[in-house]
Amino acid sequence: MKSIRSVYKIGNGPSSSHTVGPYIAALIFKKRYRNADRYQVTLYGSLALTGEGHGTEKAIRNVLEEAEIIADRRKKDLPHPNTMLFRAWKDGQLIGENRIMSIGGGSIRIENEASDDELEVYPEKNLTEMLETCRRENLTLTQFIYSREPGLREYLYQVWYAMQEGIKRGLQKEGVLPGGLNVSRKARTLYNRRCYNESADVTMNRLIASYAYALSEENASESIVVTAPTCGSCGVIPSILYYMQNDRGFPENEIVDALAVAGLIGNVIRTNASISGAECGCQAEIGSACSMAAAGLASLYKLSLDEIEYAAEVAMEHNLGLTCDPVNGLVQIPCIERNAVAAMRAISSVNLSRFLYQTRKISFDEVVATMYQTGKDMNAKYRETSHGGLAAMYRQKEQNVQE
Ligand code: SF4
Repeated sequence: MKSIRSVYKIGNGPSSSHTVGPYIAALIFKKRYRNADRYQVTLYGSLALTGEGHGTEKAIRNVLEEAEIIADRRKKDLPHPNTMLFRAWKDGQLIGENRIMSIGGGSIRIENEASDDELEVYPEKNLTEMLETCRRENLTLTQFIYSREPGLREYLYQVWYAMQEGIKRGLQKEGVLPGGLNVSRKARTLYNRRCYNESADVTMNRLIASYAYALSEENASESIVVTAPTCGSCGVIPSILYYMQNDRGFPENEIVDALAVAGLIGNVIRTNASISGAECGCQAEIGSACSMAAAGLASLYKLSLDEIEYAAEVAMEHNLGLTCDPVNGLVQIPCIERNAVAAMRAISSVNLSRFLYQTRKISFDEVVATMYQTGKDMNAKYRETSHGGLAAMYRQKEQNVQE
């Protein structure tokens, strides 16, 4: 398994697989064929269907300004739902082409190449094996992670800084998000709108929701965010950890350690299943973020290995089947609100884990395998194509209004 670094990538929103991945693919291709005088990029699958709303063309043009960009919405026989064909010419001669897949969380794979050059740092194949190592060597999960990745903590401080900056920026802003849906920013209002006689629990939920909205709204406006594990789900983990640091006084080093444990869970999901909405629906994005957040919070609370696993398992299990149906192909409805709701669910999962972990019958790895199979069985309408669910309902409503 690769480094946890591959889970947290700092980059522009609104979609890790539609903006960060294509941007990195364009950079690699341009570096290979920098002497070309003509470039063409063909987008397939989800990139062709929702690339416009997700800003794919803009991300590619940041590197290949003059490229001809084609959206082929018909081709079905693809190695991945997010596939791109990059081609380069010089003096009328084709000098190179690569099919590149944006496989989720900003990672890419180049067809027929071992292009992913991140080192394999975990010999363990899944969480069960990792927990066995921890028990055998008497390690906490955090100690286990740093024993495998000694330089990780420094990187996670950068990640945490970028997450906090995103929340602070988002809390300052008001107005309407770009894209034409006329969705107003709500983070600032949520943060400031204290109810009369508000209980401590309601305050916690309101503040965490405001932080999740702040980051998700920054993502929707193509600002800098951190994939956690994707741009669309970037608000879940930081919202809880920001609350724990700023409103509950947990020290920063413990927050960063919780980020490490959350990252490990994301890494297992990314390796053994998927974190791509185009591949497995929103269960792979928001479900993964919820599971990661639950594990991170359980670890921050110094819960046992069993309790951490149970929290992560519960959080994923109750996102199974969650579809990806972004309205107008924008990462706004249902995405922004979904980040806040997933944060609440992560907290509930941790609370349940304290009481019920000894009764569980399903392991985290089993629920991850189930999520993957469910995603494979899911109709393509519900995998980031904007053809089904809320996206279809909203389109129909708009047409009815126009008629
Ligand atoms: S519905 Fe979920 S998976 Fe789809 S774009 Fe929104 S956050 Fe991402």
